[in-house]
Amino acid sequence: MPLAPNVCYPLPLGSIRPSGWLLGQLRVQANGLSGHLDEIWADVGPDSGWLGGKGEAWERGPYFLDGLIPLAYLLDDARLKAKAQRFVDWTLAHQSASGMIGPPTNDDWWPRIVMLKALTQYYELTGDGRVMPVMDKYLRHQLQELPGRPLRDWSKFRWQDELLSVVWLYNRTGSGYLLELADLLHKQGYDWMAQYDHFQYSQRITAEYIKLEKGEGLKDLALATHGVNNGQAIKTGPVWSQISKSETDRLAVLKMISELNRYHGMPNGMFSCDEHLAGLDPSQGSELCTVVEYMFSLEQSLAIVGDPSLGDRLEQLAFNALPGTFTDDMWAHQYNQEPNQVECSLHRKPWTTDGPESNLYGLEPNFGCCTANFHQGWPKFANSLFMLSGAHDNDAEDGLVAAVYAPCEVNTKVRGVPVRVVEETDYPFRGSIQISIYPASPVSFPLHLRIPEWAKDATIHVNGQACPAPAPSSFAQISRTWKAGDRVEVNFPLKPRTSNWFNNSIAIERGPLVFSYNVGESWVKLRDRGMTADWQVFPTTAWNYALAIDTDTAASSISVKETEVKEGIFTSHNTPVQLEVRARKLNDWRAEDGVANPVPKSPVVSNETEETIKLIPYAAAKLRITAFPQCKA
Ligand SMILES: [Zn+2]
Repeated sequence: MPLAPNVCYPLPLGSIRPSGWLLGQLRVQANGLSGHLDEIWADVGPDSGWLGGKGEAWERGPYFLDGLIPLAYLLDDARLKAKAQRFVDWTLAHQSASGMIGPPTNDDWWPRIVMLKALTQYYELTGDGRVMPVMDKYLRHQLQELPGRPLRDWSKFRWQDELLSVVWLYNRTGSGYLLELADLLHKQGYDWMAQYDHFQYSQRITAEYIKLEKGEGLKDLALATHGVNNGQAIKTGPVWSQISKSETDRLAVLKMISELNRYHGMPNGMFSCDEHLAGLDPSQGSELCTVVEYMFSLEQSLAIVGDPSLGDRLEQLAFNALPGTFTDDMWAHQYNQEPNQVECSLHRKPWTTDGPESNLYGLEPNFGCCTANFHQGWPKFANSLFMLSGAHDNDAEDGLVAAVYAPCEVNTKVRGVPVRVVEETDYPFRGSIQISIYPASPVSFPLHLRIPEWAKDATIHVNGQACPAPAPSSFAQISRTWKAGDRVEVNFPLKPRTSNWFNNSIAIERGPLVFSYNVGESWVKLRDRGMTADWQVFPTTAWNYALAIDTDTAASSISVKETEVKEGIFTSHNTPVQLEVRARKLNDWRAEDGVANPVPKSPVVSNETEETIKLIPYAAAKLRITAFPQCKA
């Protein structure tokens, strides 16, 4: 039985190679914690249960592998491949006679859901003949076991991530039992679509609300309002729609995102979750696990649904929230990041349920899940830059989709012809993108270019000839017979604009980047952590500014300064773009216990002298104000 067709399909892993700044960023990641974590952190070290040791035997090994595998192969890095291979080899070689995989010290379905995601990637990259038989035997075993030992806790709320691997195997083997298993996962799994049909969690969730002190942290109410669970759940409708063939299921992703944005939306593209849904105040935080899981959900959903808004949000997360929560060298990260983050220090406020280390930059602030899980963020983004359109059977729809933009090279086949694509760009810091196409022989196919919702007056030229003006929030289609060296030039005018947030506050955006006032930073080491350290960051300057701008004329009243694009584009010292904007201090707006009080309701009145302040990209400002009050005109 064929599954419902997608709008786009991910390219087989290995087809996309990062270049330019994206390659630089992946190298930073590999030279930082990702490339060394097993050397300094016992939970994924030689004693890991996923290597046959007596150490951590739950989610941390598979989490690490889920990002390490694509990172190692994108960089073609033998050292990293060897690190990943040890976990893969142990897992494939130690399947029990029953079919169970993983450390025998626990039988939780959840960590195995993550391991399946890692194995499917490893198979696409290597073709290792051991993978599919092990997966097949394990999934048959699970189908037998689930009626007596059903999904519970994390696996009940994250079943849709297993469905990805079930669909992946079904598309390669066609074995009918996999559809039975899909049905059973759907029946036993939490009904996320119902939750968002009638969304009830519109308020900041407190520990009292979920009865945390009564030990109910794993009850449905706690798990249904848990940030990471919701980030993973965003893909549920699209992934399940492949089986159910329901258009309502497929489009459920758009409703989920709009509800999260309405009640918990943050100007960095995230919803608040520290670690339960936390409302609209930009002093609330978002957990790093949720950032990378939300990105992965968007990548999967974008392929299945083909809605350009999913690509817009994916870029927002990748270019703001993801790099903003790491140190420049990616040796330290936060558990929670805040859009209005004026101090990173030991404090209990303002988190719904997290502990006092949550916004420190360190090895494992608050809890080590993010330490194990963050590795997938950049590599899976790189693997989602281009996708395929059409049904793979040489029909007229078969073509290429530029889904999100960053410098890369693609080697694939379209309608049976090998095609190389070279994308050169400094996007998102510049608006111009060059895509050169080199088919082995002339071949006609459509090239679909995502036009973001903010991209008014975008232009497309092919070999210097203007194409019809593309509409924002669409996929522009260029159908022609492509010849080697054909050159597509896309230009997105990057005009500053404003967006509206909590208490009528405003944020300044330009393209997919959001801009922040960079509060002066004093980095104070809390403790050494082997090759890395835990850091507190204290403010050295005032930060309580209200913007003195007219939102209607923001584009002309905010000045833009572009400087040379160098290594470290997400760092404050090498940022390739700065904005200047008029502002006044607002003396009543203060911090308590290291946290900016809720942004005062706009419009505000300030009698302080008007001054010009500099804004830099969100990710470069580790102490920052992003949602500003607006001065009364
Ligand atoms: Zn986490």
